[in-house]
Amino acid sequence: MARRLAAGNWKMHGLSADLAEVEALCAAPQPERCEVLLCLPATLIDRAARLSAGRIAIGGEDCHANPQGAHTGDISAAMLKDAGASHVILGHSERRADHGESDALVAAKVLAAQAAGLVAILCVGETLAERDAGRTLEVVSAQLAGSLAQGADPANLVVAYEPVWAIGTGRVPVEGDILAVHAALRADLSARFGAAAADIPLLYGGSVKPENAAQIFALKDVDGALVGGASLKAADFAQIIAAL
Ligand code: PGA
Repeated sequence: MARRLAAGNWKMHGLSADLAEVEALCAAPQPERCEVLLCLPATLIDRAARLSAGRIAIGGEDCHANPQGAHTGDISAAMLKDAGASHVILGHSERRADHGESDALVAAKVLAAQAAGLVAILCVGETLAERDAGRTLEVVSAQLAGSLAQGADPANLVVAYEPVWAIGTGRVPVEGDILAVHAALRADLSARFGAAAADIPLLYGGSVKPENAAQIFALKDVDGALVGGASLKAADFAQIIAAL
């Protein structure tokens, strides 16, 4: 049985003053049954990690596929780790769309992150057009396969199903659709990794809110959530965590 994980994704939000939300989240009762993680803009990681002092985990939102080099403006996995991160989100649909990230590039980033000692949170998800064409399972399976290279380590992997059309829109797939995708992801991971697949946390992401969290978390093969907007305020995120 995979461990449960409540992961926040602040995206391009957060200045020094917002570290008060990190502090507030750390001060909230920490549940035994799930790990709490905030993935933050790189500028906040070091300070958030010091502030949390291990009470919650801190992660990055992306890293470069190379360990170092002439890549102006990029951040390596080792830099994230050095700043206090334990996890990194990779292949988020906003990175895939804004920066043209391919499955092959994401696969290289997963290897780089794991080599640096980070847990890779690999995101997959279909667009609305793909969904309307009935291609959800095919698209998600292909992204998963393409984003995991030979040598990817199941022990340091989390997979997040994030339908692109559900992110930041307030729309959530019906329960049967989440169940079907998570079952397919688990089956694909089992075919790939064998028994180790059972321990890979599968997160759902896309408009998770305090109001719908309990319903989503009750679904089979949903081991937690990747939460965007509702992770920005500790009070909202703490309610989601309490539902997990
Ligand atoms: P949202 O974002 O919760 O604001 O929909 C989720 C995500 O992109 O990880």
